[in-house]
Amino acid sequence: MTDLLSRTHAMALDAADPLRPLRSEFLIPKHKHNEQIYFCGNSLGLQPRGARAHVLQVLDKWSHEAVEGHFTGQAQWMTYHEQVREPLARVVGAQPSEVVAMNSLTANLHLMMVSFYRPTNERAAIIIEAGAFPSDRHAVESQIRFHGFDPATQLIEVQPDQADGTLSMGAIERAIGEHGSRAALVLWPGIQYRTGQSFELKKIARLAHAQGAVAGFDLAHAVGNVPIELHDSQADFAVWCHYKYMNSGPGAVAGCFVHERHARTSRPRFAGWWGHEKETRFQMGPQFVPTPGADGWQLSNPPILALAPLLASLEVFDKAGGMAAIRTKSEKITGFLEALIRARVPETLEIVTPSEPARRGSQLSLRVAGGRERGRELFEYLSSVGTIGDWREPDVIRISPAPLYNKFMDVYRFVEEVESWRGV
Ligand SMILES: *Cc1c(COP(=O)(O)O)cnc(C)c1O
Repeated sequence: MTDLLSRTHAMALDAADPLRPLRSEFLIPKHKHNEQIYFCGNSLGLQPRGARAHVLQVLDKWSHEAVEGHFTGQAQWMTYHEQVREPLARVVGAQPSEVVAMNSLTANLHLMMVSFYRPTNERAAIIIEAGAFPSDRHAVESQIRFHGFDPATQLIEVQPDQADGTLSMGAIERAIGEHGSRAALVLWPGIQYRTGQSFELKKIARLAHAQGAVAGFDLAHAVGNVPIELHDSQADFAVWCHYKYMNSGPGAVAGCFVHERHARTSRPRFAGWWGHEKETRFQMGPQFVPTPGADGWQLSNPPILALAPLLASLEVFDKAGGMAAIRTKSEKITGFLEALIRARVPETLEIVTPSEPARRGSQLSLRVAGGRERGRELFEYLSSVGTIGDWREPDVIRISPAPLYNKFMDVYRFVEEVESWRGV
């Protein structure tokens, strides 16, 4: 019988991994003469090889055709963003008309709240998770103030109720039950960035709607990481970025979802010419007529150079066979990481992230025994040997095996590195 925690087994898992060939679609940074062990796809995913070609294609087209580039060929800039639509809709489980790539995450969150956070005196609150990503918290707090309300009473933060700092579904249910009748919006993450906990989005949307509140999701850590059925979740809107698990480069153009039932909404919005009805946009009339669907929230003509890497990245997602195949490997490789940590370095690392695969994505958040300083020491040791995770204050190391490019051997070597640090 093979030892399921052995190096041999790690190698066998790699040999049997159907996604293994996709690693060569990515540029792996070097540490000295070897490839880094890169576990930071939760922060900045690696560069797909196709990104350079797609960016160069835009640059070449610009140099050869200048303004004509808007109108010529399949990759014409006039409709460039439409190439992204279908593959992106597949990744997030939406209908193509429900998604658009535009702006950045926080900008999209504000645009969505302009339309979907419509507070009244009776119903002005926003419910979010305690310890939300600062940008989300700043965004909701500033929206509450913008409408003349006080965040001290109108920002409701649901506190973790579990010893490990995660949230039970019961706690979410109780909070929405208790405060929902005065909530205009429930804004929830697909995966919590610090703990790595994933949430049952469909259930949360149902709870919000049952109370008469809007349901919006921030999927920054969920998109490209776990399968999401955005359309079926009945969420009103969702936003996310593309530089984490979507591998589309630093500050990549972000994503936005508006459920089909709002496709022709009369809700207010902040408008721009690119959200105007496609057929009549260039008649340049003074009246704004929104184009139906998520496209209607676009403001400007899209940054083509910035969309090019997203297009390249989405090609890899399609090559992988979609999120179901990616998730299958993700559960295995993160499960392997968890098993190795529990077996070999349990006195050194505490796993914060829930153990049930259904309650997490690829990331494990780790706390180091001995406190923050010991944690920093291990983190810096790992970086010095070319094993890249990231640090989140006050005391968490995040390690995210990305199924598109990480090997089971990467995970094995990570645990060996932790052992050798403990030995010094
Ligand atoms: C990464 C992340 C952000 C970053 O926002 P940008 O607008 O892309 O800079 C915001 N919120 C969450 C939850 C994130 O994970």
